[in-house]
Amino acid sequence: MAKQQFEAESKRLLDMMINSIYSKREVFVRELISNASDAIDKMYYRALTDDSITFNQSDYYIRLSVDKEKRQLTLTDTGIGMTKEELESNLGVIAKSGSLAFKKENELKDGHDIIGQFGVGFYAAFMVADQVTVKSKALGEEQAFQWFSEGAEGFTIELVEKDDVGTEITLTIKQSTDEDDDFDQFLDENTLQTIVKKYSDFIRYPIKMEVTTEQPKEDEEDEFETVVEDKTINSMVPIWKKNKAELTDEDYKNFYNEKHYGFDTPLQHVHVSVDGNIRYQAILYIPETAPYNYYSADYEKGLELYSNGVLIKNKAPELLPDYFSFVKGLVDSEDLSLNISREMLQHDRQLKLIEKNLVKKVKQELVKLFKGNRESYQKFFEAFGRQLKYGVYSDFGQNKDTLKDLLLFYSSTEEKLVSLAEYIERMKDDQAFIYYATGETNARIERLPQTEVVRDKGYEILYFTDDIDEFAIKMLTEYDGKSFKSVSSGDLGFEDEEVDQATESTEDDKAIFDKMKEILKGKVSDVRVSKRLKSHPVCLSNEGDISIEMEKVLSMMPD
Ligand code: ADP
Ligand code: MG
Repeated sequence: MAKQQFEAESKRLLDMMINSIYSKREVFVRELISNASDAIDKMYYRALTDDSITFNQSDYYIRLSVDKEKRQLTLTDTGIGMTKEELESNLGVIAKSGSLAFKKENELKDGHDIIGQFGVGFYAAFMVADQVTVKSKALGEEQAFQWFSEGAEGFTIELVEKDDVGTEITLTIKQSTDEDDDFDQFLDENTLQTIVKKYSDFIRYPIKMEVTTEQPKEDEEDEFETVVEDKTINSMVPIWKKNKAELTDEDYKNFYNEKHYGFDTPLQHVHVSVDGNIRYQAILYIPETAPYNYYSADYEKGLELYSNGVLIKNKAPELLPDYFSFVKGLVDSEDLSLNISREMLQHDRQLKLIEKNLVKKVKQELVKLFKGNRESYQKFFEAFGRQLKYGVYSDFGQNKDTLKDLLLFYSSTEEKLVSLAEYIERMKDDQAFIYYATGETNARIERLPQTEVVRDKGYEILYFTDDIDEFAIKMLTEYDGKSFKSVSSGDLGFEDEEVDQATESTEDDKAIFDKMKEILKGKVSDVRVSKRLKSHPVCLSNEGDISIEMEKVLSMMPD
């Protein structure tokens, strides 16, 4: 039997493919299953236009089976199959996609269920196998054919016996070696199940496998028996494609835990389905507690990204701005232009659009949480509020607008965390500014002499105990037309009769002040009479815009 050669370019491409396109070998499972699913989809589309074909959902499935002795993994599908010519051109010419052609021929603009488009996925099999056999019988054909290849050297095609329409792909898995012991796992049913769950859980057809387990014998303690169970390992319909009305909070919570997004119970979830310029579904969660490494450089933000039910990326950071990096969840879109490894995207534009939309949603959810369940929101804010303040601080664009309503600060009069809107609502008629005081703790701030005058006016003071607070507020500059004022700033922005009655310094005072300055040399730049002090004998004050607290933070920063 004459061996046909891959085309010259194909040969080089195959080598490249096998060794460098994919970051993980296990994705060959995703690629072969995607092809099988495409083949069944094609059957379905044929049935739509051809009355002689009936499409009974239950007749269509994908099966994995393992023969450990022979080191063989077989994938069977009941899809449309391939003719001799199709085996030759679709599997013999790299980068030729029969699926893309099918979509074009049938003008399936909306046939976006079909996954294939690049014509390279199949060759991922050679990352793990040194022999690949494809037996296939095409719809409407009498004869079946077998394609066989050992890699870059080419392939053979011969006539073969096969009763049912569909395709059967057998991989002879490479031997593990001392340096590379990665291969055996692809003959392990449990590992295969995990891989299928990870990448192909939402393929619309059942993916079946006979799974052998040792189970305790009934009535007999400590006795086990081998049980072979024919299992469907994928869940088929992804939760995000289900109707919201059918889902309970419990379902969303279970999904959060199943996905290992976190060990906590999410405070809030949102399920979005957008049918606009770019179509996508998303489920987003707001966690209750911050992961231990959240405020460190180790923390990796990102959402899971699916293209039509198939996992593309575990963590797509492009989908979240830094200030919402705590959000967990996933996005599934049928409109993404993927690159050849299907691990990256060709256009940022689509993701930018989705990101913008998600930001709006998350903000809405947080506002909803604040209004509906203040206690939960407070929990959220304690965990992630700092990140929001960083967002305001590092913003030179729109973030501030998104974030300013989400900020909370401790209030001197309410003795709890309050929002800026709430502060504004309580402002006195004659009050022009939002007052704040900075310090290490609330208790310390309370004792600050500078707070006294403002408090005596009956004005509320916000306590800034986070290093970032004052920096963020400086970036914000105002809220609802009111600017912020530190209780220790030179001009407090109101007149106080008692204060104005305070005397100017006398000659006697001057002598004492000079002495004080001498003693405190290098620690203070001036000592003078203050109009601010009421019950306290002395206070520290600063000149200019930078408060003492900010100076402290700045002096701690590396240059
Ligand atoms: P893609 O899926 O991007 O088109 P692949 O290299 O994965 O590229 O597959 C190449 C082509 O081979 C497919 O487009 C399809 O026409 C054909 N093919 C692969 N696997 C199957 C299968 N199980 N059943 C029918 N056709 C298949
Ligand atoms: Mg493919």
